[in-house]
Amino acid sequence: MPFTLPDRIKALPPYLFVDIDRKKQAAIDAGKDVITFGIGDPDLPTYAFIVDRMQEATRKAEYHRYPHDQGATAFRKAAAGFLERRYGVALDPDREILAVIGSKEGLGHLPLAVLNPGDGALIPSPSYPVYNATTLFVGGVPIPVPLLEVNGWLPDFGAIDSDAVRSAKLLYLNYPNNPTGAVATREFFEEAVAFARSHDLIIASDAAYSEMYYGDYRPPSVLEVAGGKDVAVEFHSLSKTFNMTGWRIGFAAGNADVVGALAKIKSNLDSCQFTAIQDAATVALEGYDRPEIEQQRAVYAERAETLVPGLRELGFQVEMPKATFFVWCGVPDGYTSMDLVAKVLDEAGVVCVPGAGFGPTGEGYVRFALTVSVERTREALERMRKLQW
Ligand SMILES: *Cc1c(COP(=O)(O)O)cnc(C)c1O
Repeated sequence: MPFTLPDRIKALPPYLFVDIDRKKQAAIDAGKDVITFGIGDPDLPTYAFIVDRMQEATRKAEYHRYPHDQGATAFRKAAAGFLERRYGVALDPDREILAVIGSKEGLGHLPLAVLNPGDGALIPSPSYPVYNATTLFVGGVPIPVPLLEVNGWLPDFGAIDSDAVRSAKLLYLNYPNNPTGAVATREFFEEAVAFARSHDLIIASDAAYSEMYYGDYRPPSVLEVAGGKDVAVEFHSLSKTFNMTGWRIGFAAGNADVVGALAKIKSNLDSCQFTAIQDAATVALEGYDRPEIEQQRAVYAERAETLVPGLRELGFQVEMPKATFFVWCGVPDGYTSMDLVAKVLDEAGVVCVPGAGFGPTGEGYVRFALTVSVERTREALERMRKLQW
């Protein structure tokens, strides 16, 4: 290599899904029929009402020019309308809402907007790898906050070292949670807001799975708690709710100073998402309660009702998720999460993801994404039943 990589690249753990993908590809190249519960990417297409709008939108010449930096006014209004109808919270679309190029982009640029080098960020372990990686990018100091099964995979704020808390400026939360499928109550968000207030922390709440819920359960928002908007910014994504991972669109909503700082970073980096995509995303948000989306929740629920009892029959410790499309599954004694992933891939052609890839506290678990049809899920279980454990 003609140059030396900077420390921030060297400090990064290998991006989990790249590694799994390589292994999976090798199996496919070897002629295996692979069933993949790996990456959390919906297998169903974007809804027709959104695609139809996109087709019309691409013909509008005014959309072919640079987008508005903060996002199209109509899109930000639709985001505010969604938050109002869904959670009963009123936000100002001009000051408190910002379009992002997928919530990953917004979450990823947040440390640049709020941290100085040396500032701490409280990062749950296990969690979505982006929080840790992008904290490192700006010279921030990741402070792992273990999520434990005994606490319902919620952080125990009282157990965090007080010196670490004093150095911290940012707290990441993600409920409904990837990878554990855990959910938070409104009371938990009240506790989190009180903790953030007393320690001058910004809460970055990742709400990517807010609309992927089952039964009577409805995930709350940190913004609906009294004082939530004073300390929190919440990241919403159209990716999972509307099967739009490829479109790259979401929004940040909450504290005006944090939203403004992120907008400043982004206006120096990108020029927002293609306005036609924002137009299509506008009709998506306006239709968040359409029957198609309810039907899709039923699809995921049926898959969970196939996979979870099947894994239990195999002797795994696993719970039915209340939300998200993830099944978080305990690894049998004598195996690491990577051992288990390698075994089911090599011997059954089934892909799942090692919990350790989400942080050290994820060890002992693997994650299955419900992105496989009921029929193929049955086939995967059938193959795993034949393995020697
Ligand atoms: C999928 C996912 C996202 C990313 O969503 P995009 O809007 O597609 O960038 C963010 N957070 C978590 C926890 C996710 O699982």
